[in-house]
Amino acid sequence: YEQAKALTFSDYGDPPAVLSLHSHSISPPHGNLMTLRFLASPINPADINQIQGVYPSKPTFTTNLSTPNPIAVAGNEGVAEITALGDRVKSAGYKKGDWVFIKGPGFGTWRTHATATPDQVVRLDDSMREGISAIQAGTVSINPCTAYRMLRDFAALKEGEWFIQNGANSGVGRAAIQLGRKWGYKSINIIRSRDDQAAQDKLKQDLQDLGADVVITDAQLQAQGIKDQAKEWTHNGRDNIRLALNCVNGKAATAMAKLLSSSAHFVTYGAMSKQPLTIPASMLIFKNIHFHGFWVSRWAEKNPEDKQKTVAHVLDMTRKGEFKDTPFDQIAWEWETKGEELIAKVKDTLEGYREGKGVFVF
Ligand code: NDP
Repeated sequence: YEQAKALTFSDYGDPPAVLSLHSHSISPPHGNLMTLRFLASPINPADINQIQGVYPSKPTFTTNLSTPNPIAVAGNEGVAEITALGDRVKSAGYKKGDWVFIKGPGFGTWRTHATATPDQVVRLDDSMREGISAIQAGTVSINPCTAYRMLRDFAALKEGEWFIQNGANSGVGRAAIQLGRKWGYKSINIIRSRDDQAAQDKLKQDLQDLGADVVITDAQLQAQGIKDQAKEWTHNGRDNIRLALNCVNGKAATAMAKLLSSSAHFVTYGAMSKQPLTIPASMLIFKNIHFHGFWVSRWAEKNPEDKQKTVAHVLDMTRKGEFKDTPFDQIAWEWETKGEELIAKVKDTLEGYREGKGVFVF
């Protein structure tokens, strides 16, 4: 029997109030079961929303982890190593030591070990795994894929054309900057203002180092004269700004839409400000801006092969040094690590202005 620990909840609510560290044991796998040992699992904003009960994909509540009442394991993304496997998993080509991604949301990845069936995971073949760290593998499925598809699937940008995005320092935003640069797109990147000017300057520089052409704050975006400035950046308006990626909403998102060229595409994928998105009718009628939403979970479910190709392509760029990691706050999850320490890190994620994304490293 394998001893395991997991961050679990039995009711939806504020993560620090509802999460607890639960210990249980895992029986040796038989048939089509395998035992996984997790290597790296990030804390994504959607994981928090899921615990709060406000996310559309729900976790799996179960009594399989030896509790009288059903509980769910938090976390949706991660990479694990196979430590033991049943006969049918072996004959399906898996072996001990293989790395697997968790395929879809709802499995629960904030845990040291789990039992899984092959349909719940995707194996990284040797060529995909070469030169890739556990953290890179554990964080490639959601953020980089989201940025990749949004840049590719809405506006068919040509080299030299522009996109604009808010939440530019998020995991998705940083991926978009790098992929855009690689494909020859130019970018205007909006970050939230910082009280600490030195920290703000450093963040701007970091994004420029990743390939951002222009980095401005949300205050600069909403100040007078921004249209003229945008003209300067885009050869007197001759280069089109044909795509916007919206992570934030609220007034700053409306201001971002106003910089778009006619018939551009505006893709909303996040809701960080918790404010609604307000769009003047003229933008739809006269400027013919197309408004879309994107959800990578739905896209991946419909396009499993393209998802694999996208992941493989990002890993390939990572291996070649063409795609840099987002800054991470590595949270060591050892056997002795206390539940309170792990839960405090989850709570940290709720605060903005963070230096890096939290990742549990086992
Ligand atoms: P990260 O944890 O990497 O970054 C969070 C970002 O949100 C930072 O840019 C942060 O800016 C910003 N932020 C935090 N609080 C606020 C606030 N109150 N108002 C405005 N901005 C804020 O995030 P991810 O890249 O993982 O995710 C970003 C968003 O994208 C989330 O809403 C997430 O749910 C969504 N997402 C959607 C996907 C989809 O398929 N639709 C897939 C992946 C992510 P600062 O540093 O200034 O605090």
